Amino acid sequence: MKKACVIGWPIAHSRSPLIHNYWLAKYGLEGLYERRAVSPQELPEFLQNLAGHGYIGCNVTIPHKEAALQYIHHIDDVVRRTGSLNTVYLVGSQTHATSTDGEGFYQNLIATVPGLSLQGKRAILLGAGGAAKAIIERLLRAEIAEIAVINRTPERIQELKASFGSAISILQPDHFVTESKSAALLVNATSQGMTGQPRLDIDLSALPSESVVADLVYVPLETDLLKAAKARGLRTVGGLGMLLHQAVNGFEKWFGVRPEVTPELYNRVAADIEKEPRS
Ligand code: NAP
Repeated sequence: MKKACVIGWPIAHSRSPLIHNYWLAKYGLEGLYERRAVSPQELPEFLQNLAGHGYIGCNVTIPHKEAALQYIHHIDDVVRRTGSLNTVYLVGSQTHATSTDGEGFYQNLIATVPGLSLQGKRAILLGAGGAAKAIIERLLRAEIAEIAVINRTPERIQELKASFGSAISILQPDHFVTESKSAALLVNATSQGMTGQPRLDIDLSALPSESVVADLVYVPLETDLLKAAKARGLRTVGGLGMLLHQAVNGFEKWFGVRPEVTPELYNRVAADIEKEPRS
């Protein structure tokens, strides 16, 4: 039986098994997707001996997304550009890795806002961590013209500029309202607004009426940011859809079927979040 897993430390919180085992059952495939707690000390041996552990591939989550790179035989361009990976699969005896967060974000964005074109447009991005990098990499491939970044630690934006070039600019929080007048997209890629984390307080009054507001946070399913954007009549995109869409490529590589993100899957994972709102 084909087996895949998600590795992290700790890992008990991961909802990936719910997603992949739902698809395995839906498509009538013989397979299993498990959680595996792998400590930083165990990481090299685990990845170098993935088949020996009984797996055809794995997802990689916190805190291993960057450290894992050095133990993989072949990384793709997305991993090279973002410096992190979340999906590993075997080709023969060699490990290959990709990062699907940016693609998951983008596919969810265009599924939620059909016909959206970002070519030549401007986005404002809150955050400069791993998820922010994945989003920048994908938005640049969608030919967005500029991404203005706000981050608590401004030095991290300099690193983004060094990696991704002149399309990245630094936005001072005090200038947000004025600068938001020309934004087509606002994305929260910080953990602010997540259950148990500090609130995200931001003035959306100057965003154009045709702009889109996206939040990566999915606990709660509808964050205060999304509620405020809806109250202004703006189109909104939640974080749970991204989580579901980022799982598609891994499932296809491991189990050979490209799965669909359906309302039934969304509702199933949403119900789990509402029952137990852990992040
Ligand atoms: P990360 O690498 O740790 O980055 C965290 C970001 O949040 C940094 O920019 C950090 O600013 C900022 N931040 C954290 N606490 C803050 C606070 N109290 N005030 C202001 N800024 C704060 O994490 P990540 O992997 O990028 O994840 C970021 C968020 O995206 C998390 O909420 C995560 O759950 C979510 N996410 C969702 C999905 C999905 O599928 N929906 C996928 C990946 C991530 P500093 O640089 O100043 O520390």
